[in-house]
Amino acid sequence: MYRLPWSLNDNVLAWLEPTKRCNLYCEGCYSRNDLHSDKPLEQVRKDLDVFVANRNVDSISIAGGDPLVYPHIVETVRIIRHEYGKKPVINTNGLALTPELLAQLKDAGLYGFTFHVDSSQVRPHWKNKTEQELNALREKFARMVADAGDLSVAFNATIFRHTMKDVPMLVEWARQHADIVHTMVFILFRTLRTEEFDFYAGGEKVEAGSELVYHDMDQNPRPIVAQEVVDAIRTEDPLYEPCAYLGGTRDPKSVKWLLAGRLVGEDREVYGYVGPRYMEAVQTVHHAARGSYLAYVEPGLLSAGRSIMAGFSAFDPGTRDAAKRYAKRVMRTPGQAPPKVHFQSLLVIQPIDMMADGEANMCDGCPDITVHEGELVWSCRLDERQQYGCFLHATPKHRAAPLVEPRALVRGNGSAPTDPR
Ligand code: SF4
Repeated sequence: MYRLPWSLNDNVLAWLEPTKRCNLYCEGCYSRNDLHSDKPLEQVRKDLDVFVANRNVDSISIAGGDPLVYPHIVETVRIIRHEYGKKPVINTNGLALTPELLAQLKDAGLYGFTFHVDSSQVRPHWKNKTEQELNALREKFARMVADAGDLSVAFNATIFRHTMKDVPMLVEWARQHADIVHTMVFILFRTLRTEEFDFYAGGEKVEAGSELVYHDMDQNPRPIVAQEVVDAIRTEDPLYEPCAYLGGTRDPKSVKWLLAGRLVGEDREVYGYVGPRYMEAVQTVHHAARGSYLAYVEPGLLSAGRSIMAGFSAFDPGTRDAAKRYAKRVMRTPGQAPPKVHFQSLLVIQPIDMMADGEANMCDGCPDITVHEGELVWSCRLDERQQYGCFLHATPKHRAAPLVEPRALVRGNGSAPTDPR
């Protein structure tokens, strides 16, 4: 696989939190709901200035809290797009989205949405729904945005051990909607693991399990790792082949971001997955031509899957295989118009892992860095800085077992593991 070239200074994204206020509770969220946390626009500009001074990016993720409850959200989008020249993308649960607000956001220069929808949320009118039942809500959001036109759409779902069985169904749902759903993200649930570790702030022991929001959950005693999601996706889509990754800051065998790009026909057939050379070419050429690595792509370009196959087949074996399958499909039905092909991303994120000695294994080249008091900090650990003024240190209560067996991202066919890097 291609190791994505993202670093602290030069990355695809930065993570702006204009508010910590939220209208929903999601299990696994790293953020504390704070009713009095709306930042004045002047502070939003200062945060953006910190990014400009320290980090070269393509896009700004506007998160929180839920940014749609932030009273200056439209102006924030306008500032990011027109004053800072970046692509603003809103990360939201979608609850506060109306067609009127959507029109205002688009008018202000919004680039796209990442909707977080999963069964751990306590949503009004959508309580106790299964992941399958929530597809109706996902589709409602995707259609609303598609009707507005020219906006990127991604869906996040936190994956728990008890919802791992739903991953193949979500992959299949994404395939059915490849024309209006551009990215599907699986974020693996994490807890503090307070049964295994003690936590210290500046040398003082703290009760982090009761003071931070991402506390332990009985149903998830063992952290899920990316390999498990890889295996689950392959039960629905045997062609699934990731092309790029971010590793860990401490454990070089961990896979923290795992990116795949597939070519899906309007006939709902998956023709194949782009390979590492495709991703390397896209990142390198975009950086050389536009000065930043590429995060989000216009929906119009994502529906040009046939051009991708034509342009990249010469040097990317994954894309070439997809082009061959597509050619066979066209030859099988000579009287029919060749189906349009969409590019769709599948992303797996494996957040913080605790090593046996208590050190945190973070995403190496973290895209979701935010700003706190003028400094860049991991957004997944912002609450530690806000609560204690520093990041916590963990020490094992007993000698903890290693998180992951040192195996590579292998296919579940019994073949010998090979190191994908
Ligand atoms: S280090 Fe934390 S904030 Fe950064 S990408 Fe990984 S999980 Fe997200």
